[in-house]
Amino acid sequence: MTVLHIRRERLLESIRELSCIGATSKGGVTRFALTGEDRQAREWLQARAKAHDLDSHFDAVGNLFVYCRADAAGGPPVLVGSHVDTVPDGGRYDGALGVLAGLESLISLQESKAQLSRPVWLAVWTEEEGSRFRNGLIGSRAFIGEVAPTELDDADAQGITLASALRNWELEPAQLTEVAREPGQVHAYVELHIEQGAKLDAAGLQVGVVTGIVGIRRYDVSVKGQANHAGTTPMHLRQDALVAAAQMVQSVEQLVKASGHADAVGTVGKLSVQPGGVNVVPGQVDFSLEVRDLETSVMDELVERILSKFREIADTRNVQLCWELTSDVKPAPLSREIRQTIAEVASDLGYSWQDMPSGAGHDAQHLACICPTGMIFVPSKDGISHSPHEFTADDNCVRGANVLLNTIVQLAK
Ligand SMILES: [Zn+2]
Repeated sequence: MTVLHIRRERLLESIRELSCIGATSKGGVTRFALTGEDRQAREWLQARAKAHDLDSHFDAVGNLFVYCRADAAGGPPVLVGSHVDTVPDGGRYDGALGVLAGLESLISLQESKAQLSRPVWLAVWTEEEGSRFRNGLIGSRAFIGEVAPTELDDADAQGITLASALRNWELEPAQLTEVAREPGQVHAYVELHIEQGAKLDAAGLQVGVVTGIVGIRRYDVSVKGQANHAGTTPMHLRQDALVAAAQMVQSVEQLVKASGHADAVGTVGKLSVQPGGVNVVPGQVDFSLEVRDLETSVMDELVERILSKFREIADTRNVQLCWELTSDVKPAPLSREIRQTIAEVASDLGYSWQDMPSGAGHDAQHLACICPTGMIFVPSKDGISHSPHEFTADDNCVRGANVLLNTIVQLAK
């Protein structure tokens, strides 16, 4: 197939320019959703689109859409997108690369006068990270009808609700339901994103073809022992909740590693000790448990093994144990056809690539509920992300954008 190329300098310059909006003293970027910085970033995108004769508009949850005027195309659109909101002091590539490569692709399609039979839209989703409003992925969830009206009452750290943040942008939160699309209304969705892990960088590969986005299951676990005097309670009479919890934490690592499921991960990332005194035997420990994998059956199996191990440890150490499921996000397998298209496009461009799962959540996981969806990864140097040190080499940004552009052509032709 003939391949198109985006304009390298124009893409790289746009990455530099966007990273100045919300730039921090540490060299990172802070752009929380629906704030002044976020608005500035989106208006900058709109101005850039307009300069290239592309129309744009905001929907009721602040998703910004840019439309390619590729000649006389009709029917459900091919959608590309990502986000421009960030974590505190985040990197300049997370989300931004997918949006800017998307915009560059639309501009290139317009300039090349490509004959497409479908419209192509860019979506800039609202509040992907959840840095301001806790649930995150708000724009893409609203787009598939998965934001309940009650979520509009969720407040940020300053007590500003999602509804009032939207009104501050002169949007009408009451129109939330009008944002949602049904299956069949979008032909396909493709998102380019930095890997945010080290697999591609370590393997020296240029492109990742994402097979699916992992499911995430989280529990709050509580271990109750007996708080007591650290000087007068002999070792054999203790019910030390922390020692029991420490064994449980270790068992998570051991069981997941030994499971034979290479992509599965299990993490205890948060732990609190009560009463937390240097001279008190710990009476209670509360900790988080998180398991991720591409297969629900693997997550079921791992959670069952982990929790039965926890029970065994609790019995042996004479402490009480309880847990509660706090969230359960299902894995999102991505379209086989689009994976194949991305792989062919990467090969035609002469880039090295491999199949790989996404261990992080992305807007694409929601789009996958209503249309065939694909994701393209490019390497993150040393796997660092959500940090001012996040880095993707210029060549890799350009390669990712070229894969995105040509994938759009294949899906929209
Ligand atoms: Zn992201």
